[in-house]
Amino acid sequence: MKKKKLSLPLQILLALLLGIAVGAVLGSTGLKSITTDFIKPFGDIFVNLLKFIVVPVVLVSMIDGILSMDDMKKVGAVGWKTVLYFVCTTAIACVIGLALANVFHGAGLFPDLSKELGSASYEAAEFGGFMSTLVGIFPSNMWEAFRTANMLQVIVIALFFGGAIMAAGEKGKLCRDLVSSFNEVINRLMEFIIALSPIGVFAYMSWVVANQGPDILGSLALVLGCAYIGYILHAVLVYSFSAKVFAGMSPVRFFKGAAAAMMFAFTTTSSAATLPVSKECAEEMGADRDVAAFVLPLGATINMDGTAIYQCVATVFLAACSGMELTLGQMVLVVVTATLASVGTAGVSGAGMIMLAMVLEAINIPVDYIGLIVAVDRLFDMGRTCLNVTGDIACTLCVSKWESNAAR
Ligand code: ASP
Repeated sequence: MKKKKLSLPLQILLALLLGIAVGAVLGSTGLKSITTDFIKPFGDIFVNLLKFIVVPVVLVSMIDGILSMDDMKKVGAVGWKTVLYFVCTTAIACVIGLALANVFHGAGLFPDLSKELGSASYEAAEFGGFMSTLVGIFPSNMWEAFRTANMLQVIVIALFFGGAIMAAGEKGKLCRDLVSSFNEVINRLMEFIIALSPIGVFAYMSWVVANQGPDILGSLALVLGCAYIGYILHAVLVYSFSAKVFAGMSPVRFFKGAAAAMMFAFTTTSSAATLPVSKECAEEMGADRDVAAFVLPLGATINMDGTAIYQCVATVFLAACSGMELTLGQMVLVVVTATLASVGTAGVSGAGMIMLAMVLEAINIPVDYIGLIVAVDRLFDMGRTCLNVTGDIACTLCVSKWESNAAR
């Protein structure tokens, strides 16, 4: 008889519970060094893999995202309106996420764990003035940018290559195909690494609980709560507003119409997998078929408001845990990198966590701290995917309305 394999979410849940139990037992019996010496290293292997994949993911998925916008030129006005809507709503999402996380942090709700878990292994980069920061974003050596995982430089490289492949037209087709093939391969690799997350979850959870005590669970609940408040606020403020003002539809009707896709996204944690359902919901609410056929797949690839909120909240939380205070300049950088990271995030389960590593690298927060929240990433992912999909549907309805007004 064939054994039935446990689903990944269930494996993660079991690993989480087992990690808490083992950590609590070892912590209370004075054996916490066992977790540090023998269990945590497996978590480190998992985080190393996350770090190893982040440069190729950012590079290739961002070039691929830019190339998919090339189609946008073909559809002219629809394309520009769509991208404008995506960028504006994602930037608002970042601001909401950052503001909320700062309120939580200001109220002392995020712990400083640097003493127990080791302080930041990187020193916060000195802010050397606007001009030198600007110059520093442009790499003089591509491999150096990859070697040091300098994310801003990697993004710039991706933007240049994406633009150049587009400009090369027919002659650049081989590169274009290579990028899309690499993108597939890297997505598989990412799935493979994500499939190892139960090991990382168990290892880090037992280590954190043994060293920190079960109090850490309260902090995780708080940061989750903070992200969910952000998701709800964004949906209520931005999507209700868009539905009412741009699409001429009552918010209640909008959320009712989008409910099936929202629930599907919540459970599958994949915008790409939800596409057929979101298409049906959007068309049911009166979206133009052609607009939906263009906006929804593009949205599932590059529009991730929920992911942006999650990345901002998680960044402030992890900065607090590592004993860092973010400066205003760093927060602006978080908004910019999280907006770009959302373009590069694939519409599949867990991709946002990998792109979070990019945001952390960009502002010199130790990526290892991701280990703290990896255990509950699935819970973040359910909400953020739900919001991502809702944003795509809202955009489809707005652009449909704008197009039909323009045609009159
Ligand atoms: N799971 C999300 C989505 O498919 C991406 C992410 O992990 O943030 O939209």
